[in-house]
Amino acid sequence: MPHDFTGQTAIVTGAASGIGLAIARDLAKGGARVVLSDLKDEALAQAAEGIEGALTCVCDVADPKAVEALVEFAIAETGGLHLMVNNAGIGGPAAVTGEYPLEGWDKVIAVNLNGVFYGMRFGLPAIEKSGGGAIVNIASILGTVGFATSPAYVAAKHAVVGLTKTAALEYGTRGVRINAVGPGFIRTPLLDAHLDAAAMEFLSGMHAVKRMGTAEEVSALTCFLLSKEASFITG
Ligand code: NAP
Repeated sequence: MPHDFTGQTAIVTGAASGIGLAIARDLAKGGARVVLSDLKDEALAQAAEGIEGALTCVCDVADPKAVEALVEFAIAETGGLHLMVNNAGIGGPAAVTGEYPLEGWDKVIAVNLNGVFYGMRFGLPAIEKSGGGAIVNIASILGTVGFATSPAYVAAKHAVVGLTKTAALEYGTRGVRINAVGPGFIRTPLLDAHLDAAAMEFLSGMHAVKRMGTAEEVSALTCFLLSKEASFITG
């Protein structure tokens, strides 16, 4: 039984693929009006196929003006904003910290950390004005532990966890719950682009259940945290 999001507008960033797409589908199944947002118009149009009432809006989350415009689009099209999933993220280059490409560092921080901040910077006032709601920021297990050769990703995801805890304290009595989800390794195009079969097998073995997760499993937790069933859970 899906959670009931009837009458609520949701924005999902990075919604053309993987975890974001699974979340957008499940929110719509629960009755939310979902704005799918991503970098490429064509990929978005394809992702939105079959999602009832879906709207699409191209947005690079590393650009604060684009994120502001995304929130304005959702409000103009649907009359408000209640739910926001700051999901867009990239893996970045693989290199040890002492050799990490400077451009790669800037890009990963811009998308994976600044993008989440912009989502909350513009999403929070809009959700509060719409009568309250919830935000989920997609962090990672790498928001909790280190991982050799991914310094930028690990730093950004740790920062997302801290940012989430801080905003949750600020908005706990203002009608907006804010949580982060920290998935282990999930089989999506993000991993497929970076890892060979041997690396996939190695990473699967690091999980207690000896397999990678699915986007649908991450969506199930995310939708619970966005739902009224999670009304006492924030930060
Ligand atoms: P994915 O399949 O690659 O999907 C990410 C989507 O975000 C893609 O459509 C991508 O577009 C888009 N995107 C990239 N940069 C963007 C930007 N600047 N603005 C807007 N959209 C952008 O990856 P995923 O595995 O679903 O990852 C989603 C989130 O989960 C990320 O935050 C990731 O760090 C996190 N996560 C993933 C895993 C995992 O193992 N997969 C584990 C823990 C956490 P393009 O394809 O055009 O680049």
